[in-house]
Amino acid sequence: MDQIIVKNLEVFCHHGVYKEENVLGQKFLVSAVLYLNTRKAGRSDVLTDSISYGDVCRMIMAEMKKQNDNLLERVAERLAQKILLDFSMVEKVSIEVKKPWAPVMMHLDYASVKIERSWHKAYIGAGSNMGDRAAYLKMAEEQLEKNEEIRNLRAAKVIETEPYGYLEQDQFLNTVYEIETLLEPDELLEVLQNIEKEAKRTREIHWGPRTLDLDILLYDHFVTEEETLILPHPEMQKRLFVLEPLCELNPYGVHPLLKIRFCDMRDELRAMEQKNRRMEIKG
Ligand code: AMP
Repeated sequence: MDQIIVKNLEVFCHHGVYKEENVLGQKFLVSAVLYLNTRKAGRSDVLTDSISYGDVCRMIMAEMKKQNDNLLERVAERLAQKILLDFSMVEKVSIEVKKPWAPVMMHLDYASVKIERSWHKAYIGAGSNMGDRAAYLKMAEEQLEKNEEIRNLRAAKVIETEPYGYLEQDQFLNTVYEIETLLEPDELLEVLQNIEKEAKRTREIHWGPRTLDLDILLYDHFVTEEETLILPHPEMQKRLFVLEPLCELNPYGVHPLLKIRFCDMRDELRAMEQKNRRMEIKG
């Protein structure tokens, strides 16, 4: 991706764990690499097709002086977040905050913290089969939209489906949300679990009735097998109620592990279900 770079912007402010640093202040040097597509501006020669590095410098200066943080980690995190939220063309940012006068009583060029942050695309599966099912899904969508670290939410059409696993329960309403988010996968999972809690979800029977179930299906092409978070969702390829809405949003997407397009998975599952139904009728 193309880059816009600001190197060693000098800012005098008061971050640090020592009281003296908060009182006297010191010099900080901030470097930012903004990743975006500059092609349009490159062809048009118009500033509104890109971002102004002057605006970026002024934003960094204001954000550095807004509050006193203990840690360079915190300063860097705030700057990265603010750039990604305020300059929507920026997909990814790298921030380095240097302290050339770090109070360690030794000679050094500088101490610094450097981080990289970006927008991620995620797909969330949602289902409800208790109470006012449509209202629970609406609530989930609204809560996601309210989160400032989530943008560009797209919801697939809500579909009504037969229960899966434990069959003695009511029909489900299902959908999938596509989002862009600054949240890390485990942070996104926590947000979803808090929304489930708000819907007073209780988990009595595995795969049993629920007011609201929210799962992360995909997070970029990220693959993980932590005990608390498996990605891609391990059951997604077996569930038509996931693949139908997912394909509405992203038909040509490819499963990161199985390397099969979601629309091909959906077509195969549909065919299998039709075959099973025909066999049931015959039997
Ligand atoms: P359930 O709500 O029945 O789908 O199960 C939720 C449990 O599955 C939670 O304890 C999560 O930690 C775990 N889990 C593992 N992978 C995922 C995922 N991709 N999305 C949501 N929950 C997950």
